Amino acid sequence: MELSVLVAHRTIDLRSDTITRPDSVMRRAMAEADVGDDVLDHDPTMAALEEAVAGLLGFESALWVPSGSMGNMIALMLHLQRGDRFLAPEHAHVLGSELGTAAWLAGGMPDALPHDGGPGRPLASTVRAKAGGAGPYFTLRTTLLSLENTHNFAGGAAFGPAEWAELVAAGRDCGLSIHLDGARLWNAAVALDVPIASLAAGADTVQVCLSKGLGAPVGSVLVSDADRIHDARRVRKMLGGGVRQGGVLAAAGLVALDRIGDLAADHANASALAGGLRERNWDVAEPETNIVLASVPDPAATVAELDALGVAAVTVAGKVRFVTHRDVSAADIDEALSRL
Ligand SMILES: *Cc1c(COP(=O)(O)O)cnc(C)c1O
Repeated sequence: MELSVLVAHRTIDLRSDTITRPDSVMRRAMAEADVGDDVLDHDPTMAALEEAVAGLLGFESALWVPSGSMGNMIALMLHLQRGDRFLAPEHAHVLGSELGTAAWLAGGMPDALPHDGGPGRPLASTVRAKAGGAGPYFTLRTTLLSLENTHNFAGGAAFGPAEWAELVAAGRDCGLSIHLDGARLWNAAVALDVPIASLAAGADTVQVCLSKGLGAPVGSVLVSDADRIHDARRVRKMLGGGVRQGGVLAAAGLVALDRIGDLAADHANASALAGGLRERNWDVAEPETNIVLASVPDPAATVAELDALGVAAVTVAGKVRFVTHRDVSAADIDEALSRL
């Protein structure tokens, strides 16, 4: 009896896929990792992880960073000169969720692009219109296009290789550098059933997170060409992101890479959650990956009501957001729905 009460009140945590904890396999790999001083000598497990991610994404070189925010920040610092304008889709993580580092540290002036190409991305023609060409000396310089796939605040919306290629071509034609915030690019590749490299081809820099759906406790990877990664390593050190026996952390990342295929289960769970919510008359779009957004009159009040039922969610962009991940099962989703 007491046990069933306890079980019934266990919180089903759908706030984010960042809450995933390293399991015993991952912890064992961390404990047994071959390590060295990454700042002095390039830790061997760090090097192995960086090589693996560079290979997967189809780039020459890669750099482990402690967070996705630092990966994006380093990329923007490499691409932007003070006062340069950069383009990013509305509600992009680099615009609203990184405490203004794009301006504070990278010196860029953000310009948000509408989602007129579909959820989370602009049309290529919008990029061309916004970027313009080289004008007279007194015109503002626009130098970077920063895209996001999947787009978090657009509900984990994914776009495929053809659209990506059009956006890259538009940026290139206008002389822009291209950065991709691919925090959940793994989810896009699994959902669209395409090689992840096809979603990154032609970018100058790409940031991918190991600490979200793939379940590592910490870490992202920035990929680029070898020269830029050399510079990125210097900037990481400037930011205090150089770590010593980082192999302990990189080992978790290597295990995380074995789990890309598992994301399909998260996507199925997100779809089941959305379906169940719709049956209960919620206004929910069909998720493309692992993020479910619900439109409700008062998102903060709804999140508080859900919390009282033992279902944890958050508000983003004026909606209620649920994220499925490897630490919630299909049975947990059924249980969450039954509590509603
Ligand atoms: C989570 C996230 C990041 C940043 O990752 P942190 O490791 O939390 O700093 C960047 N971009 C997007 C789209 C994200 O969802």
